[in-house]
Amino acid sequence: MFSSSLPLGRFAGIGVRAHWSVAIVLALLSWMLAAEVLPAAAPGHQAVAYWATAIVTAVCFLASLLAHELMHAVRARRYGMTVKSITLWMLGGMTELDGNPPSPKADLWIALSGPLVSLAIGGAGYGGAVLAAGHLPALIVTGLSWLGLTNLLLGVFNLLPGAPLDGGRVLRALVWKRTRDRARAAAVAAKTGQVLGGLLIALGFAEVLLLGSLGGLWLGLVGWFLIGAAQMDVNAGLMREQLGGITVRDIMDPHPPVAPGWWTVAAFVEQAAGQARKRVFPVTSFDGRPEGVVSLRELARLTAQQRLVTRVSDAGHPARHIARPGDRVLDLLSTGGLRSADDLVLVVEHGTLAGTVGLDDITRALELAALGGRNVPA
Ligand SMILES: [Zn+2]
Repeated sequence: MFSSSLPLGRFAGIGVRAHWSVAIVLALLSWMLAAEVLPAAAPGHQAVAYWATAIVTAVCFLASLLAHELMHAVRARRYGMTVKSITLWMLGGMTELDGNPPSPKADLWIALSGPLVSLAIGGAGYGGAVLAAGHLPALIVTGLSWLGLTNLLLGVFNLLPGAPLDGGRVLRALVWKRTRDRARAAAVAAKTGQVLGGLLIALGFAEVLLLGSLGGLWLGLVGWFLIGAAQMDVNAGLMREQLGGITVRDIMDPHPPVAPGWWTVAAFVEQAAGQARKRVFPVTSFDGRPEGVVSLRELARLTAQQRLVTRVSDAGHPARHIARPGDRVLDLLSTGGLRSADDLVLVVEHGTLAGTVGLDDITRALELAALGGRNVPA
């Protein structure tokens, strides 16, 4: 979803990226402020003054979004979680954490910290605007008060009790504490997230139809996003539960046919490749060290002449995925997993090849898990 995002730098040691849709938000907010909000509240200035104030205000707004996310991230790190990254996008920010919060209390405070920052910035901005009215230029006061009100709104909206909003995570933490069942709590939060999404869409439609205001489209978009994200929460939770304890060892092929790297391609094709009933092979060196991966497709690209003089290790490619037998399959998937049937995960233990995991093995594990067995696969 966020593959096309631009790195903004590191804050508090956390990598921050911006999705391209942030540029649209920046442009829309600046335009709305410069063309409507500022001229209505502080008439009589030149266009350039409106635009300058508008752009500064919009940038400050994005900075306050970042502060919100950074607070989640810093709090999560304090509870011992690994923060992968923060991405700003059209509907706010997304802090990617590794794993689950260690306790309901951690879950609660990580979730609350973001909206609290928004409410604090909102209160300071709006309070500052009220105090500065009459002392500072009207343009600046208007920008400040807009920034304050928007942050207050953001803080309150984020506290609505449905996943993936922060309020949904608060709900999850509370249900978790009460039932001591994290998976059930997550399911409750995801369900309320879907209900909330449906309500927002209905409200958005009502706003468009009854009031003729296009702002309702935005509300509908947010609702639609909420429903999708809540469904993803449900699916991810299910998968986490089903795949929970399954390790790479459980799904790997412990005795894969191996392509000896020092053989010629011609010898490998003649003596081994045909009998193996596989398309992709781990390549090993003379002393058993894994060297890479080779597929029949790669071999087929060579001419008969080339096959006689090319070694198997030069025909394949370096291993892109290496795992240990004890690694969890979930972690394998979350680091991107395998994309192509022409690739293999090499499972390495004590420097030698312990097995391989192919795309089929992963798909099989997922499908067996979806079929419901917790003790799957054998
Ligand atoms: Zn948040």
